[in-house]
Amino acid sequence: MGIIKTLDAALSNKIAAGEVIERPQSVVKELVENAIDAGATKITVAVEEAGLKKIKITDNGSGIAEDDLELMFLRHATSKISDDHDLFHIRTLGFRGEALASIASVSRVTVNTCFDGAVGHQIKVENSKIVSRNLHAARLGTEMIVEDLFYNTPARLKYVKSLQTELGKITDIMNRFIMSFPNIQFTLLSDDKLLIQSVGNGKLNEAMAVIYGMKIAKDIIEIQGETGDYKVNGYIAKPEHTRSNRHYMSIFINGRYIKNFMISKAIINGYHTLLPIGRYPIVSIHISMDPSLVDVNVHPTKQEVRLSKEPQLMALIEQLIKERLLGQSLIPKVSTKKKVLEQFEQQKFEYDQRISKEVVKETYNPDGQFDVKASNAQMNTASTIHELPAIDEEKIEEICESPVPKVPVQEVAMEHDVHQNIINDSRAAHEEAIQIEEGLTATQTNSSRKLPYLEVVGQVHGTYIVCQNDEGMFMIDQHAAQERIKYEYYKNKIGEVSHELQTLLFPINIQLTQDEALKFEMLQHKLSEIGVNLEHFGGRDYVVNEVPVWFPEDAKSTVEDLVDYLFEHQQVNLNKFREETAIMMSCKKSIKANHYLKKEEMERLINALSYTNEPYTCPHGRPITIQFTTYELEKLFKRVM
Ligand code: ADP
Ligand code: MG
Repeated sequence: MGIIKTLDAALSNKIAAGEVIERPQSVVKELVENAIDAGATKITVAVEEAGLKKIKITDNGSGIAEDDLELMFLRHATSKISDDHDLFHIRTLGFRGEALASIASVSRVTVNTCFDGAVGHQIKVENSKIVSRNLHAARLGTEMIVEDLFYNTPARLKYVKSLQTELGKITDIMNRFIMSFPNIQFTLLSDDKLLIQSVGNGKLNEAMAVIYGMKIAKDIIEIQGETGDYKVNGYIAKPEHTRSNRHYMSIFINGRYIKNFMISKAIINGYHTLLPIGRYPIVSIHISMDPSLVDVNVHPTKQEVRLSKEPQLMALIEQLIKERLLGQSLIPKVSTKKKVLEQFEQQKFEYDQRISKEVVKETYNPDGQFDVKASNAQMNTASTIHELPAIDEEKIEEICESPVPKVPVQEVAMEHDVHQNIINDSRAAHEEAIQIEEGLTATQTNSSRKLPYLEVVGQVHGTYIVCQNDEGMFMIDQHAAQERIKYEYYKNKIGEVSHELQTLLFPINIQLTQDEALKFEMLQHKLSEIGVNLEHFGGRDYVVNEVPVWFPEDAKSTVEDLVDYLFEHQQVNLNKFREETAIMMSCKKSIKANHYLKKEEMERLINALSYTNEPYTCPHGRPITIQFTTYELEKLFKRVM
């Protein structure tokens, strides 16, 4: 006798649910997609216990016709396609007809709906069976209530993570919907608390403001373009706003949020070298195309898609981003000038505020443009000359302010600002370093030296300090050395039990995104452990009025970085957070490479380094000190064998 049998509907639906309904977020995704397909302009999602207890989705869409009420819970029952042709021309989000069947097999579902303004209906389904059906007062549209998710599939329930994680995932999918359909107003409530509400006015940049906050939204650039087959539009954040993962790159194809490695790659290529290594941009990009060019039936959750003519699309995206970023003249022009100005600063330092007027003047070509090559050449020769004619400090400013032909007034002003900032920054960094070095040596004279006594010989390329003693020659990376010194200083300070605070002249204002505000408690507690108190100011605004006295000079950007870090690494424990904070603060304004130091400054740096706990590697693990023993030197020169 044969042993094969057809599974009953409840069982086969449960099997399908295994693929489609992984967690509460999947239910929200499928039901919101149905509401969008039904033409809703307002969709409200209310969850209890991160959706495990209850998910209620209300829409003002078409409603469900009386005849369809029972059909919709059957597997492969859909109103969205009817033949082969339709399958390859999909314009709706759903089409497989399995979401409701799957959901109804792993939870208790209630539907209240009203179609065409006619009489309302209520239908209840449990274990894939209709348990009741009544006339019921309902407004035009549909309300789907899903309760006790996974009550009958304990194995699945086990895979569900903490409520916090699950709620985060629901928020995440809602954010994607808000960006993919800016014309729909979405609301998300959790245990009766409003988490997100979008504007629904059709503007993608305003949708992004709701999700990422004003700080980012003010710094996004619109992109728009098309080739024969594809139309692309959206917004990309300027490269100074980056994140440590791809999560903030949202790609939508015909309104559907998708993940596609090649498109992500094209976006990153578009940013080219503007992104630091390991950092990713914030973008929201919509691609529209003829549905026949995209196969969405690759995966049950339809997040992965297969595209025809992919190279054409990639080239378009990469080029659009490149053009727009270059068009903004974000980096090249300013940074070239900045570089030259930084070199002024080094020169100023090296020659004790004596710079040759000629050196500077000659870096402008006859058209009044900045001549980088000439400037660099000049700088290089300049650094080998020992005596230069003295010149006023004001002269440098004068050069920046002097009317240079063809450079618009505004730009000159900006250049001046950049210059001033660099000088201020560099001075502050230097003063801060000296303070820390002095502080350190004072507190550490009792502790033992970790480096042998070293005599400073000189400096190479404004980057490495060469020292010697009886044992050999030592080369020290000055930037890494200073990072180590500051790192130990800050780590020590951050670890203090109580912090002496100073009131800020200008309080620091921080605006969190709705998603972040939700996780605020975690943030608040971790920040206060290191002496930073973020106080709620109203809405999503927070304020910091005081910081510890030992805080780095630029308190604002430090606090912003701390907040960013905490949201990026939510699970971080306090020790790790302290450690990371110390690393972050230590690299903030350490002397960069190419910074000429006076002999006393080098000596002070080496001395402070000697008393650190680990003078051989910087907090990032790169070497600070390299030694050539006398024997090795002799061997190199073949004096010994
Ligand atoms: P699919 O979306 O793939 O068609 P579903 O199982 O998600 O399959 O839904 C089945 C059908 O139920 C849909 O095709 C649609 O006709 C109907 N439906 C589901 N939700 C709604 C809703 N919120 N408003 C109107 N109709 C709905
Ligand atoms: Mg569906």
